Amino acid sequence: MKTSLLITLLLVVRTVGFCSLGTYLIYGAGKAKRKFNPAVPDPATIAEEKRITVINSLQLFFPVAIIVAAYEAGFTRIYTEITAYGWIYTAGSFFILALVQDAYFFGIHTFMHASPGRFIGHHVHHRFLNPTPWAAYAMSGTEFQLQNSFYVLIVFLLPLHPYVLAAYLVFSFASNVIGHSGYEIWRGTSRVVGSSEVHYLHHKLFKKNYSLYFTFWDRLFGSYVAGSSRPIGEER
Ligand SMILES: [Zn+2]
Ligand SMILES: [Zn+2]
Repeated sequence: MKTSLLITLLLVVRTVGFCSLGTYLIYGAGKAKRKFNPAVPDPATIAEEKRITVINSLQLFFPVAIIVAAYEAGFTRIYTEITAYGWIYTAGSFFILALVQDAYFFGIHTFMHASPGRFIGHHVHHRFLNPTPWAAYAMSGTEFQLQNSFYVLIVFLLPLHPYVLAAYLVFSFASNVIGHSGYEIWRGTSRVVGSSEVHYLHHKLFKKNYSLYFTFWDRLFGSYVAGSSRPIGEER
């Protein structure tokens, strides 16, 4: 219980810290380039994004408690001795996590947009058409826990070191904040990795760009749309 509460507290600090830092750097310090939607998001909408994101981050306690209890009972594949799998696997497992979560997210996201998946309430996240970093966790409680179920499942399937999991949880949330920034943070030059504009276009067009990190699932299923900052030949 104490371990679960401590991990949840760290994750809440991460969530609020990254959202605040992202908002300060992008809106306060003017560190970003082009804003995709020129309108400034209204304060009431930002307040709603904040409220939902903070409530959801507190509810991280539930998946954390399940994982910690399963680990303590010896059921997970979490390992603490790096020599058990070696440095190469330990470092590589970070990228495996990203690839598997990208596929998982593409699957559940496509399902949530289809009629049978409407009960999950994905429309809550799509209320934020002109998102700010605080939209990162602004979604229905059901969708939030469905997304967290990736972590609950993966610890039983993939050998993972706690340091890799911790680094991944920082990386994935930073990526989430950038995806919802509403600004071009850097010029998109990759054909494989998405950008903040790619996810902004998902909020704008609904039926395009379902992926989390990479673009290949959307390309494969014909739902990819490139942002205007994409390389020459890929403009919308
Ligand atoms: Zn979004
Ligand atoms: Zn969506």
